Amino acid sequence: MRGAAVAHPSQAPAPARAPAPLSGPVGAGRWRRVGLLAVGGAVVWHAAPALAGVGPLRRRLLPGLAGVGRPGHVALTFDDGPDLAATPAILEALARLGWRATFFMLGEMACRAPGLAAEVAAAGHEVALHGDAHHNLLRRTPSQAGDDLRRGRARVAAASGREPAWYRPPYGVLTGPVLLHAARLGLRPVLWTAWGRDWRAAATPASVTADVLGGMVAGGTVLLHDSDCTSAPGAWRSTVGALPLLAERLGRAGLRVGPLGEHLR
Ligand SMILES: [Zn+2]
Repeated sequence: MRGAAVAHPSQAPAPARAPAPLSGPVGAGRWRRVGLLAVGGAVVWHAAPALAGVGPLRRRLLPGLAGVGRPGHVALTFDDGPDLAATPAILEALARLGWRATFFMLGEMACRAPGLAAEVAAAGHEVALHGDAHHNLLRRTPSQAGDDLRRGRARVAAASGREPAWYRPPYGVLTGPVLLHAARLGLRPVLWTAWGRDWRAAATPASVTADVLGGMVAGGTVLLHDSDCTSAPGAWRSTVGALPLLAERLGRAGLRVGPLGEHLR
């Protein structure tokens, strides 16, 4: 889905530009409650994707799911890899900055580059799950969605040597059945509060930086990509170029950057 009028093929509607007030410590219980609510009624069951897709609303009602965590900290996350061209460049840029991040991997991509998945883990980054294939789970049956999660988790774990603890669905779409599948697999769903729109052919390091800073950054979760498997070819180069620019701005604001494990616990 390149060049379409919609946003990114892998992501839901953009987060609001106005920073939301930070919430207190976020427990794992919040997203579990969503699952329980989903079980409780068909309306909420079907409303779950819409709820997940509304940035300000989900931040207020479900801060943990949105990725709202420790104040003064920024969780840095990358979707769609590992990618033989993009991921090594991202890893190198992160090493230069002394940053650790969370990589939401696809099972299919990890199968193509198992050594790279292990390299991400060996460099101290968190390995998380983005699914097996890059499907919109609204277009899959609950059973197909469950199969995708199980297969993706197994493939990412086999390639990286790490059991993923976090899950972010393609397109940011969460349904009741997907939440239940994730819970059964011990995966905690996390979306994002800021993104760089780095999938676009027109993206530049400056635009990626500006887009990230336009979202909720302090205490939030930043979404970037370490692959162009669903983005404009070579779009990841803008992401690589944006990292030092972001480091300068975030450092000036006194914000620490790290993986989700440092952010939401
Ligand atoms: Zn994606």
